[in-house]
Amino acid sequence: MMLEWCLALAHLSLAAGPAGAADGVAIRAARMLDVRSGKYVDRPVVIVKGDKIDKVGTEAPPSGIKTIDLGNRTLLPGLIDAHTHVLLQGDATQAEYNEQILKEYPSHRVARAVRALAIALEHGFTGLRDLETEGAGFADVGLRDAVNEKVIPGPRMQVAGPALSTTGTYPILHFRPDWAFPVGVQTCDGADSCRKAVREQLSYGTDWVKIYSNGGGLRLTSDGYIDSPPNWTREEMAAVVSEAHALGHKVAAHATSDTGIRMAVEAGVDSIEHGDSIRPEIAKMMAKKNIYLSPTLTVLAYVAEPRAKEGRVIWAEIPKVAARSFRNALDAGVKIAFGTDAGGFPWMEINQAKEFSHMVRLGISPQEAIRSATLVAADLMGWKKVGSIEAGGEADLVAVAGDPLQDVAVLEKIDFVMKAGQIIRRPE
Ligand SMILES: [Zn+2]
Repeated sequence: MMLEWCLALAHLSLAAGPAGAADGVAIRAARMLDVRSGKYVDRPVVIVKGDKIDKVGTEAPPSGIKTIDLGNRTLLPGLIDAHTHVLLQGDATQAEYNEQILKEYPSHRVARAVRALAIALEHGFTGLRDLETEGAGFADVGLRDAVNEKVIPGPRMQVAGPALSTTGTYPILHFRPDWAFPVGVQTCDGADSCRKAVREQLSYGTDWVKIYSNGGGLRLTSDGYIDSPPNWTREEMAAVVSEAHALGHKVAAHATSDTGIRMAVEAGVDSIEHGDSIRPEIAKMMAKKNIYLSPTLTVLAYVAEPRAKEGRVIWAEIPKVAARSFRNALDAGVKIAFGTDAGGFPWMEINQAKEFSHMVRLGISPQEAIRSATLVAADLMGWKKVGSIEAGGEADLVAVAGDPLQDVAVLEKIDFVMKAGQIIRRPE
């Protein structure tokens, strides 16, 4: 695995080039998923010119054009993960988090993030929304720009810099008070200070504003949901949302408790992250206000047990409540944007495409799960030219052996990836 990605990284950064060259390349496969209809097109022919899709059809390609025949594979749009942390390498326990925040040099974290970007791309994720650097400042802005400049390989990205939260609500916490320790977010208190924090962050080039609507203090309610104190006053949260929106940017809210989710939804954020405790009436409000849910089931499966074992017993309950909340969101017609929290689990150990299986296990259809990682996620990001395979769109394509509508787990074995017309990997 290690050698494999090392070679791939070297190959990607040095040999960046042969794309769907100017005169075009034809890609053929056994079938292609039309994500809009949810149906297969048999024996598709996709013509790529430069970084764009030139033509999609079933007619034989023009004679003389370079052809890539993917045999019995299924062609899909490049996948988008709407919740990642390329600058984190797994933090199931508080000790793992503290280690990365307190001890790792920023350059070390960035180097590992470069590797994470290559891994995401190799797994077929041609787009990411990276939601907060956890103590690594605005390193995500630099990484995004380096990808765009083709200095390093990686998915197209939208980034959030450090998230915002209020004093005393986000680790590092409870270390000796007479010493200053870093926290994994930028803190602000009071509406004016929070407005200023939004202005400051966006001036550094971030795309999204991320807030922690609630943090710790999670408890089970008598009717089986999760509640906690809020991190913010309504005035503070309203200030963040109105300032971000006034400047043309969106707000993502980490929200895992009844109070946290309710306050974020009422404040009019654009997406709820995790959403572990969504009551039916809140789900209806989300659908009405067009607030997306990014469910991050993969990280939940990864962290719940170790966190319960280190004494945070509520974590033994959260997966059950989260499953119920996911179904409430589905029933209410909330738009579900595929999000995994990769980085919250180690990039090197778990393929973020595992999220598809978790989603389907909780009741979403394979078609809808794939749409959430293509059309819906692209819509959340405001990307008009990715998320489907259509003439004029960006040439972000993946292919996999097998039938993902029968078994979404095959998406963990993607072996053809093209981003912006450049071949990232192809079958052996
Ligand atoms: Zn996260």
